[in-house]
Amino acid sequence: MKIIEGVRISDGIAIGTLYFLKNKAVEIGRKKIDDPEKETARFDEARIKACLQLDRLYEETKETLGEENAAIFDIHKMMLEDLDYIESVMAIISEQNVNAEYAVERTAEKFSAMFSAMDDDYMKERAIDVLDISGRIQKILCPALYGQYEITTPSIIIADDITPGEAVGLDKKMVLGIATVKGGVNSHTAILARSLALPAVFGFREISANIANIESLDGKHAILDGFTGKLYIEPDEVVIKAMSEKLDEIRKKRELLNKLKGLPSVTADGRKINLYANVNHVSDIDDAVNNDAEGIGLFRSEFLFLDRKNAPTEEEQFAAYKKVAAHMNGKKTIIRTLDIGADKQVSYFKMPKEENPAMGLRAVRLCLSEPQIFKTQLRALYRASAFGNISIMIPMVTSVWEVGEVLKLIEEVKSDLKREEIPLNNKTEFGIMVETPAAVIISAELAEMVDFFSIGTNDLTQYTLAADRQNSNIGSFYEPHHPAVMKMIEMTVKSAKDAGIWVGICGEIAADLELTEIFLNMGVDELSVSPNMLLPLRERIRAIIPPNATII
Ligand code: PEP
Ligand code: MG
Repeated sequence: MKIIEGVRISDGIAIGTLYFLKNKAVEIGRKKIDDPEKETARFDEARIKACLQLDRLYEETKETLGEENAAIFDIHKMMLEDLDYIESVMAIISEQNVNAEYAVERTAEKFSAMFSAMDDDYMKERAIDVLDISGRIQKILCPALYGQYEITTPSIIIADDITPGEAVGLDKKMVLGIATVKGGVNSHTAILARSLALPAVFGFREISANIANIESLDGKHAILDGFTGKLYIEPDEVVIKAMSEKLDEIRKKRELLNKLKGLPSVTADGRKINLYANVNHVSDIDDAVNNDAEGIGLFRSEFLFLDRKNAPTEEEQFAAYKKVAAHMNGKKTIIRTLDIGADKQVSYFKMPKEENPAMGLRAVRLCLSEPQIFKTQLRALYRASAFGNISIMIPMVTSVWEVGEVLKLIEEVKSDLKREEIPLNNKTEFGIMVETPAAVIISAELAEMVDFFSIGTNDLTQYTLAADRQNSNIGSFYEPHHPAVMKMIEMTVKSAKDAGIWVGICGEIAADLELTEIFLNMGVDELSVSPNMLLPLRERIRAIIPPNATII
């Protein structure tokens, strides 16, 4: 047995086989092949699989969102059956003796350019669709290209590093836990692991960045203990027994917590706290509902943009937001607008490479510099607002000017929709994330412009303490409990209270049970946490007896 230690990321215990995620150096290269006929057959097999996927998506979407929303999948299937497209790919494979992924890439580029150059608006839109269908085929041909791996048995994933896009692409049923060499405590991959209640440990420096070393762990039996940050490789009987007992204990504790479902999140003196869930994906909503979320405090809409070849269309976004709101059945659903940049990169925005992407063209900055992308999202959000209790929230605000610009765009979008007689909720709440020191300092002015604040302590900590949330080497400098961060939270809450708006916390620290009482004393109205932390937090809130409280 060998034991290695890393940094605790997400509690829990995983027992199983290690699966090495070989996610480096995978790109669509031009490779010479010996047998063009075999390669053509490989392409056609992938194309047929893609058609079957689209049939399934069409049926599922038709059932949940109606025929109109499902139509896009039918169009995609027709494009995949288009003879010109098929012949183009096959000709490149056989004439140049190259791999299918590359031939699909070239064909996608050619057809996309051709559609873009057309006068007809309908045909112009097909430029994106042809990239989409090509991406679908490439994903089947080479799953690793998109961070999608064929893991056939539930395993503990081990890797040098995993991007949020790659994590999104993993088949969750096949992931027991995550162990990586790199990655910070509040990186988005860490947040994803916590929100999926997957045991995770990052920063296994012992295996260093030596991929060959990690690779040698592939297939070995292991136990990952997210509570202590230890990975037991080929554990002995004593460890296996101890860990199995620990797992049993966790299950029993969970059963006890389930008894809190349906009870209000109130302190002993009757103060109500809004207990909301952070979710990253439409599919996480079930988890939030099953854990009795009283609302969604943070829906990270940018996850809709990851793991794909082009931005989701207005229709796709509308369908997703509408589904989330409908599922929450009238409960508040706060959707954060696009926070792309930093560790969440997408190739299709063609953003210039930045030295410090966390301080670069990220979130609202990107949205204001690409108003068309932003307006598409705002249109989808306001359209969905007619179908549920949606609030809109802007990330990474640093100035009054940014909020003013966003409000102008919102007015434009709303009046366009009204002119088109598309229903929307005119009273949709509008708020901002307070996650930069600048926003804290000017929070009194910002509070006059919005309906609510949600404090993003993950970023607020990194920007206040100048400590990269991605970097596991500076773990101890990234300290959300730092008095400077606490003071920032206090200042923000005060500004909100003075202006008469509500204020919540949606950073990971909201789930820190040691701080719950402090936050409540500051005057925080809402805490938004990953679904598996909702009931532990409700238990904590209900146990709080404020000084001089009259117990009711
Ligand atoms: C935060 O910064 O605290 C936050 C909630 O947003 P994200 O983690 O997505 O940056
Ligand atoms: Mg943030």
